[in-house]
Amino acid sequence: MIFGGIQKTTLVDYPGKVACVLFTLGCDFKCSWCHNPELSSANLIPQQPIIDQSEVFSFLESRKGLLQGICITGGEPTIQPDLIDFIRRVKEMGFLLKLDSNGSHPETLEKLITGDLVDYIAMDIKNRQSQYEKTIGCPTDFYKVQKSIELVKTAPDYEFRTTVVPGLVSEEDILEIAEIIDGSKRYYLQPFQSKKTAGFDYDKKSVLKKPDLEKIRDKIKHRFDTCEVRG
Ligand code: SF4
Repeated sequence: MIFGGIQKTTLVDYPGKVACVLFTLGCDFKCSWCHNPELSSANLIPQQPIIDQSEVFSFLESRKGLLQGICITGGEPTIQPDLIDFIRRVKEMGFLLKLDSNGSHPETLEKLITGDLVDYIAMDIKNRQSQYEKTIGCPTDFYKVQKSIELVKTAPDYEFRTTVVPGLVSEEDILEIAEIIDGSKRYYLQPFQSKKTAGFDYDKKSVLKKPDLEKIRDKIKHRFDTCEVRG
C-alpha cells in the first residue's frame, strides 16, 4: 500500500463513528476539478511524502480501543494491489472499515463485500453515462461503474454521492443519476469546493449553491431513504 497521508481523528468522515482517515496515493481518473490533486495528479504525486505501511500499522496499534473505525480514501484505494490484504489485517485488529471509491474496480469491491471485509462504502457517481468521461477527464468503462453501483447496494452500509462541478454536472445530469441509483439507501449532493483544486478553470456564475442543490434534492429525495446536500 502506498499512503500519502493520515488524518488521526475524524468525527465526520465515518457516519456516527470516531475514526481516522488513511489517504492512498494515485488515482485512475483524471478529474480536472479534483479536490485532492496532491494524491491523484501525476505531476504532484512525486512531491508528496510517502508514509510507510509499518508506520501506519504502528499508529493503528496505538489507537486500538480509542478509534472505532478507519476510512480509506485517496486518490483511489482500489488501484492498490495489496488493498485486500491490508484491509484484512486492519479488520483483524478490530476496526470498522469504511472505503471511499470511484467504482472503477468492481472486482475488488466484490471481494471486499463477499469477504465481509468492509462495513461502509461511499461511492462517487461522477455523472450520468453520456457525461462520464468528460467529467473524469479520461476514458473509462461505464459498465464497471454500473457493476460497482449494484455491488455497493449489497454492502452492509453505503452511500452514493455526486460533487456538483460547475460546467460539468447540471440539474439534468443529477436527475438522470438519481434514476440510475433509484431505491438506494443514501444519496448526497456535494457542492463544489474550489479551494483545493489544481487550477480548475470554471465559470463562477455556473456554480450551483446549496439552496439550488436543495431544490434539486427535493425533486429526487423520494427515490432514497436519505437524500441530502452536504456542506
Ligand atoms: S476520482 Fe477522486 S481522487 Fe481521483 S481524480 Fe477524481 S476526484 Fe480526484
